[in-house]
Formats: sequence, C-alpha cells, structure tokens
Amino acid sequence: MTDWQELEKRYFMNTFKRQPVTLVRGEGTRVWDDKGKEYLDFVGGWAVNCLGHCHPALVGAIQEQSNTLIHTSNQFYTIPQIRLAQLLVENSSLDRVFFSNSGAEVNEGAMKLARRYGKLRLDGAYEVITAMNSFHGRTLAMVAATGQGKFQEPYVPLPEGFVNVEYNDVEAIKAAATDRTCALMLEPIQGEGGVNIPDRGYFKEARDWCDEKGIILILDEIQTGIGRTGTLFAYEQLGIEPDIMTLAKGLGGGVPIGAILAKEKFSVFAPGEHGSTFGGNPLSCAAGYATLKYILDNGVVENSRRVGEYLVTSLERLKAKFDFIVQVRGIGLLLALQFDRDIANDVVKACIEEGLLINQVKPNAIRFMPPLIITKKEVDEAVNILERVLAKGF
Ligand SMILES: *Cc1c(COP(=O)(O)O)cnc(C)c1O
Repeated sequence: MTDWQELEKRYFMNTFKRQPVTLVRGEGTRVWDDKGKEYLDFVGGWAVNCLGHCHPALVGAIQEQSNTLIHTSNQFYTIPQIRLAQLLVENSSLDRVFFSNSGAEVNEGAMKLARRYGKLRLDGAYEVITAMNSFHGRTLAMVAATGQGKFQEPYVPLPEGFVNVEYNDVEAIKAAATDRTCALMLEPIQGEGGVNIPDRGYFKEARDWCDEKGIILILDEIQTGIGRTGTLFAYEQLGIEPDIMTLAKGLGGGVPIGAILAKEKFSVFAPGEHGSTFGGNPLSCAAGYATLKYILDNGVVENSRRVGEYLVTSLERLKAKFDFIVQVRGIGLLLALQFDRDIANDVVKACIEEGLLINQVKPNAIRFMPPLIITKKEVDEAVNILERVLAKGF
C-alpha cells in the first residue's frame, strides 16, 4: 500500500501541521481514510463543507455545469455568476458583488475597494484598522491586516497601511484613527483567533463611530457567513449592517469561491480597476448557487442554530463533569471548548483515534465547525466520543 504521508513529506513544502490521516472519501458528515477507517467530521474542511461531503445538490450542480461550461474568462457574461450574485444580494443587506477564489483574495479586494473609496471620497485616506487576534488570510497584505505576531514576524517588513488594535474595545479603535483612516475591518466573531465573541454593543458602537467619521465598516464574514452562526450572516445578530462584507469558506460548499459584497455607495471600482481570471467562473458559481439555494430552501440555517444550541447544552454537561473544562463559547455551529491547560493537541489526537475529527484552535482550546446539516444524533455520537476521551484524564 502506498505510504502517501511519506510521499507528502518528500514532495510538499513543509507548511501544514497535518494529522496522520489520509482522507480518500466523504459522504454527509462522514469521511473515510485510505485504510477504510470511518470518521465523524466536526472539522468540516475548516467551516467550508456546510452541506457535508458530496451532497447530491452540490455534486449534481457541479456535474451539470462541468458538462455545460467550465470556464470562459470575465471578458464575457456567464449565467451562473449572475444568478449567484442576484441570490446573494437578494438575501443580504448589500447591493453589489465581485467574485474571487479564496478568503484572502476577497479581503485583498475589499482593501482595494476601501482605498479606492478613500482616494475618491476621503481625501486619499488609505489606512485600515483591524483587530489583534484577527485572521484575514495569508497574502502579504492580509498578514499585515491579521493582528497576530506569529503570522507577521517571519515576513517583516509588511505592506503599510494597517493598524492592529485590541478587539472588543471601541476606544482602541478611536485612539488608532487618524485622517488617513479609510476603513475598519473586523470579524463578527474571531474564528481562527479562538472563537472570540465581543460584548454586546461593540459592533453597534463601532458602526455609530464609523458613520460619524465617514469611515467604511468592513465585516470579514468568511468564517461566520453562510449560516455558520445560526443566521445566514452573523451581522444579522449584531443589529448593524456592514458597508462591505467578504465571504468565502462555506459559500461554495467546498468548491473554491469568495465574494466581496458592497453597498451601492461603496461600489466604486471602475472598469479595469479590479479583476480576476478564475474569479466567478461558471463552475464555482454553479457550486455556490447550488449550495446557497439548498441552504435557503431547506432550513439549513435554522438547523445550524437549533443543533448548535443542542451542542452547547451537551458541552456544558461535559464542563460540569470535567473540572479542566473552563468555558464553552460560540454561537450556531462555530463553537469552542476552553481547557485550563494546554491539552488541545492531545485531545484532538485521541478523538481522531476514536473516529472523531476535531480542530485545535489554541493550545488550550478545541473548535467545533461541523457541517450545518448535522443532526442531534450525530452530536450525541461526537460528544460521547469526546466524553470517553476526556474521561481518560489529562
Ligand atoms: C479562513 C479565513 C480567511 C482566509 O481565507 P482563505 O480562503 O484561507 O484565504 C480570512 N478571514 C477569515 C475570517 C477566515 O476565517
């Protein structure tokens, strides 16, 4: 039998801390490795596989589109792109869409849009305020936007124009603002940063301050969007609307696609000022349309909310039982379990051993981001495995 992991070590750049599992097949909430072992998937491709694995609605759309038209370039109109843009606009508070291929790429595009607006309407302002512990992607500019030293230090000097301030602190935003500030970019919940939920009122105050100063509010909903937090977009629960919003991860159900959405007022790109070869191609947009349409028509967002609440209740029961669990946090199906010591890596390994895929988000915290179609029965199964693992003691 081929030792794929050995081959990866020989040929691939040494960038990922992978678990020793080679996945070959998936169906619904389950995946199988090359030895035939079955796993319940609570990683969900890092909050991407919102319909689980190989969902018939997504597979059918990809099959049909790949038999019809895969790629054309944006020199021409194509129908899947327009249909997906319409569906996004009709189901959000934003007016216009641009498609790219990934999260980092749409955030880059949002930065360009903000700078363009700054040049045209804000006296050339170009600086963007972002938060400490944020995550906005891996391109050089997004590393500068991402307020985490471990991502920045290997690459200094970084592109200028980014200021990282404390999250959940409006005064820190105000103190960092200058007449060069054009935008504030925040995640509604910090995903990679550890599933950090800001206080009620933070976003409302930030929104009011942006309005007062004429500064653009950009929400990075790459992880929180598309039903992950129990509403289609997390901003719906914040009582505010963003001026610009970025999406990726769940949008294509596993097919790479990202979207920048903007209110009409902020949609200031002129022809030729931004672009993409692959962005918005028929195949990825057909996948995005099928995913989003299925979510909207089948109560998937409601399921995310309901089963998410059930998962919180189940995890609270574990917290009551194990004294080294100090917190259950998150909303919808973006949740974390906080330990009082650095055992997340061991817990993840032990869970995988027992057939449950789970993610370490901090040395002392694990993260849950299963497919949004998950059932309560599958939650019971996952929590039972976790309970068994934790009972061994750490
Ligand atoms: C994953 C993520 C990104 C980066 O997306 P990529 O597709 O990996 O480039 C950006 N922002 C947030 C909030 C994310 O969770």
